[in-house]
Amino acid sequence: MILSLSDVTKSYRSAEGPIAVLKSVTLGLAQGESLALTGESGSGKSTLLHLAGGLDRPDSGSILVNGRDITALDDTGRASFRRTDVGVIFQQFNLIPSLDVADNISFHARLAGRFDAAWEAELVNELGIGQLLKRYPEQLSGGQQQRVAIGRTLAAKPPLVLADEPTGNLDEATADIVLDIMLRLTKSAKIALLLVTHSNRLADKLDRRITLSGGKVVP
Ligand code: ADP
Ligand code: MG
Repeated sequence: MILSLSDVTKSYRSAEGPIAVLKSVTLGLAQGESLALTGESGSGKSTLLHLAGGLDRPDSGSILVNGRDITALDDTGRASFRRTDVGVIFQQFNLIPSLDVADNISFHARLAGRFDAAWEAELVNELGIGQLLKRYPEQLSGGQQQRVAIGRTLAAKPPLVLADEPTGNLDEATADIVLDIMLRLTKSAKIALLLVTHSNRLADKLDRRITLSGGKVVP
């Protein structure tokens, strides 16, 4: 298993008291497997992705990535985990404004010690962003930034990619094309993919699908 959550719980504090968002979440994702995560707005999908990405800690339960319990890591361990073991594509793309597209794409791969020029050329070609390499993020449309963010994340070949509505800013036809490309690239690099989507059509393209409801996974 590349990702394995066991009995994960998470609540947030609010003025009215704690809100239990994840009550007992258990799931597993194998190497190279793709899993769609669906559920109503507010069901905890983004919370789950943040926990799996080491951006936040659960209240209880264990989260193993690549065999390592990430809830037990100190700050240094978490920083190193985020550099090498997981890639995230969130709705805010977090491209680096001072770097052009080419450098944005290679930055994480270099940090992770996995820069691979041939793989990057393949990503750029498949994602159709070859004409954008010298531009800066502010000179790109939302859809173009989305493609660059996908390329940036896959460039480092992390064993696990977490994606929160990665094609949410694209029209239907383009979203289909971009997701097909993502699935082909993650399969070929044996990257496990956990992808949040509202769309049944997109969810059906992935190997498996789970739904969050009432803080739990409904099969
Ligand atoms: P989803 O991504 O499925 O729409 P989220 O994981 O973003 O759901 O949110 C789940 C619930 O947790 C919502 O009720 C949301 O308001 C609440 N929530 C999310 N993040 C925080 C936070 N940082 N502080 C307090 N409440 C939060
Ligand atoms: Mg969300």
